[in-house]
Amino acid sequence: MAKITCSRCNQLIDSQAITCPYCRTEHKAFGHPGMTLHRAKGKSYLCESCTYHSDDTCTFPKRPLAKECTLYENLEERKQNIYDNLQTSRNNSSLKNFKIFNILKYWLQNNSTITLILLLLLISFLVVVYM
Ligand code: SF4
Ligand SMILES: [Zn+2]
Repeated sequence: MAKITCSRCNQLIDSQAITCPYCRTEHKAFGHPGMTLHRAKGKSYLCESCTYHSDDTCTFPKRPLAKECTLYENLEERKQNIYDNLQTSRNNSSLKNFKIFNILKYWLQNNSTITLILLLLLISFLVVVYM
């Protein structure tokens, strides 16, 4: 079960908790477990670190002084996720290339006669073409 820190009392609580069991702060909007209500800590505002403020796509009237928001997305976390996804896709693609190379190598080792004949044919063809 994932844990989060309560933005008001800093106690560790269940990430699905609708209200904090220690200070009763609401963590889900409209009592819905799937709708996280993000809260700013201290005197800061959520918009300062929000992706939608950074790319100027937010049209909420509370912007740029939102202390609570259901749409908040942390800019640094988003950048980190994009970076992690890029790294994963690069690793997958090099793994795929490695597999293709190994299959080709395996095939050439097991079909050396055919490979040799094909090479001779290719050399003969090139000699005929360029003579
Ligand atoms: S989505 Fe919420 S936190 Fe983000 S910029 Fe808009 S009002 Fe601010
Ligand atoms: Zn709390």
